[in-house]
Amino acid sequence: MPNDLVSKIFYRFLTPYEYVKSFKAKYLEQAHMKKGTLRICEKGHKYYKSTDCPACPVCEKEKKPKEGFLSTLGAPARRALENQKILTEKELSKYSKYEILKLHGIGPSSIPGLEKALAVKGLSFRK
Ligand SMILES: [Zn+2]
Repeated sequence: MPNDLVSKIFYRFLTPYEYVKSFKAKYLEQAHMKKGTLRICEKGHKYYKSTDCPACPVCEKEKKPKEGFLSTLGAPARRALENQKILTEKELSKYSKYEILKLHGIGPSSIPGLEKALAVKGLSFRK
């Protein structure tokens, strides 16, 4: 075995950070056991839920933009725009209302909110 590999393995066992982390994880697991069942989302986040709601709180937090017009939309509409790389009002203004409506996930109820977001920036849908 090459020397650096040996020291790597050795070091790994001794990293206090990792040791504390695994200890903490175990502790949290026990503490949460009573609150619900342990679930692991497709991205590998562990979370506890007592209901049948499959949403992972970590993913939801990561996905939800904190500001901008995307944050005002529901998840399907937001995904539809993100898939089209429409992330700003300026990008959105390059499309017509009808092109946006054609996207899967965008319903007529999404349009007034989008128009409002455009208007705030002095923009509008392409005619
Ligand atoms: Zn997740």
